[in-house]
Amino acid sequence: MPQTSRDLLAAARRTVRELTPHEVREMGGRTLIDCREQDEWDQGHIPGAIHLSKGYIEMRIEETVPDRSTPITLYCAVGVRSLFAAQSLEAMGYHDVASMSGGFGVWKQLGYEFVTPRTLTADQKLRYSRHLLMPEVGEEGQAKLLEARVLLIGTGGLGSPAALYLAAAGVGTLGLVDFDTVDVSNLQRQILHTQDRIGMAKTQSAKIALTALNPDVRVVEHNEVLSSESAPRLFRDYDVVVNGCDNFPTRYLANDVAIFERKPLVDGGIFRFEGQVSTIVPFASPCYRCRYPTPPPPEEAPSCAEAGVLGVLPGIVGVLQAAEVIKLILGIGEPLTGRLLHIDALDMRFREFRVPRDPECPVCGEHPTVTAPIDYEGFCAVPLTRPAAAPPTLAATG
Ligand SMILES: [Zn+2]
Repeated sequence: MPQTSRDLLAAARRTVRELTPHEVREMGGRTLIDCREQDEWDQGHIPGAIHLSKGYIEMRIEETVPDRSTPITLYCAVGVRSLFAAQSLEAMGYHDVASMSGGFGVWKQLGYEFVTPRTLTADQKLRYSRHLLMPEVGEEGQAKLLEARVLLIGTGGLGSPAALYLAAAGVGTLGLVDFDTVDVSNLQRQILHTQDRIGMAKTQSAKIALTALNPDVRVVEHNEVLSSESAPRLFRDYDVVVNGCDNFPTRYLANDVAIFERKPLVDGGIFRFEGQVSTIVPFASPCYRCRYPTPPPPEEAPSCAEAGVLGVLPGIVGVLQAAEVIKLILGIGEPLTGRLLHIDALDMRFREFRVPRDPECPVCGEHPTVTAPIDYEGFCAVPLTRPAAAPPTLAATG
C-alpha cells in the first residue's frame, strides 16, 4: 500500500532521535548542521552551525564530516526536513544523528541566540563563487573577509603580491603605508606598479591597481613613514598587520607595536634567493624579539644596494603572507606561529624552524624592558649571525 507523508514522518520519528532546542543548546560537542535552503539560512541561523541544504546533504556530508562517528544534530525550520535528512545520514552509516524538534522556528521563539549573516550581492556571489563553494569559507567567511581591515607596511616587493591577492579575495579594507614613489628599478618585482606610474606615490599607484582589480575593496592611503609616533595610531585601526618592509628598524618597530596593540602580525623577509615567513600572535606565540632580543649594530648588516633579490622571490613570500592573513581572518587552519618558514628558491626547498617563546623576551616576556616603540637608526638589513639549526636571517630590498 502506498505510504502517505504522514506515514513516512511517523516512520522517521520511530528511528531518529530528537533533541529539543533546549537540549541542543545545552549539549556541547555535537556538529550542528542547518539543512534549510540558502534564503532561509541567510535570514538567520544558529551560531556555529554548518549550512548543508537538504537537497545536497547526501552529496556533501562526507567531505564536511568525514568521520561517521561524529555526533551530528540537524535542524530545519520546523523539524520535519531535518528528520528525513537524519534518516538519510543514518542510512549512510552515521550512527549518532539527531534532529532538533520544532526546528529554528521554536529556537527563535525561545529567544535563543542566532546570527544573521551579512548577505552578499548577486555580483559578489559571482565574484567570490570559488570561495563560497568551500565550506571553510562560504558566505559567512566571505562576509568576514569583506569586513576585515588589513594594514600593509610597504607596497614594494612583498606588499605588492600580498595586497593584490588580499584585494582579489575580497578583504574589504586595505591600509597601505608607504612614503616612497615608484622607480623604474622597482618594476622587476613590485607588481602593483607599472611603467606609466613611475614617479607617482606608491600608495596612489597601488590604489589604482587594487581598485581596478576589485572595486569592493576600500584602499586607505597612509603616505607616511612608519615611526614610533605613527605605528600605534595606524595599527589600532586594523585587524591584522602585514610587514612587507624588510629592514631592521621596521621589523623591530612593527613587532613591538603589534605586541603593544595586540594585533597579529605576518612578517616576511627576502634576500637574494631566500625568503622567510612567520606569523606573530601577541602573547600566544613567540615574537621576533623572542628570537633576536636586540637589533645588531648597523655595520654588521649588508647594505640594501649590495643585497639584491630574485624578482619572483617576493612573489612567493608575499603570497604566503596573504594566505596567513586570510586564515587569521577566517579563523581556520594552523597559523605559522612558533614556526619560521624558510624558502630557498635556488634549491626550491621549504624548511621549517621551531621558535619557542622566551619568558625573558624584552617585549612579550614576563618582565618587559621595552615598553614603548623605538625608532632605530635607519639601516637596511638583518643580522648575519646564524644560530644553530636556524636559517640565515634575511636582508632586504623592499
Ligand atoms: Zn617575544
